[in-house]
Amino acid sequence: MLGNIGTGKGTQGKLIMENYNIPYISTGDIFRENIKNNTELGLKVKSILNDGKLVSDELVNEIVFDKIKNLDSFVIDGYPRTINQAENFENFINNINKRLDIVFLIVVSKENIFKRLTGRRICPECGRIYNLYFDKPKEDEICDFDGEKLIQRGDDKVEIVKKRMEEFKRNTEPVIEYYRNKNFLYEIDGEREIFEVFSDIKRVIDDYIEKQKRN
Ligand code: AMP
Repeated sequence: MLGNIGTGKGTQGKLIMENYNIPYISTGDIFRENIKNNTELGLKVKSILNDGKLVSDELVNEIVFDKIKNLDSFVIDGYPRTINQAENFENFINNINKRLDIVFLIVVSKENIFKRLTGRRICPECGRIYNLYFDKPKEDEICDFDGEKLIQRGDDKVEIVKKRMEEFKRNTEPVIEYYRNKNFLYEIDGEREIFEVFSDIKRVIDDYIEKQKRN
């Protein structure tokens, strides 16, 4: 799943997992989970994530290869994010006799990405997610259900969102071109309801599966 930050590629990746019964891997989730659990990896990457920077290619590649080496199929989100990762990923999957089938690029305007992320607020008690632009709580920054003060994810702060978007432009836009040139890329309009976006994704996957059956 490719796309700028905040385009909903994680949401769509999880829907692919549920609909096609294949594992979903998110490098961002792996890092956040490790940070939460104070693991060695978590301590190593904490300040990098908080700064909106990228973890080193070497470390990310190692984690991903270890995760996928025994899987038949999978959907991966948040990776590859640099040309180095894309090239190493391709070599690795070729070496274990697997192939890349489809790359989805979810597209959302920069203005909406900014609102989606900087407006996102989370209830620390029940986990409900609000958005100050699109899905406001009834009372300012207070959860409708349990009256808790809403919190903002560290990397959703304006300055960090700006940095993450710059990171995307610098490192990940070339990855999009890399896959576009290889004809792997399917662009999906991400500015619609979750299930409308997913129905486009599903059509592409189902067509692909049909074609594979015929060949
Ligand atoms: P995400 O949830 O995908 O936006 O990832 C959150 C953060 O994890 C990013 O801002 C990076 O610091 C780090 N990260 C996740 N995936 C990668 C990757 N493929 N390469 C480098 N850093 C990554």
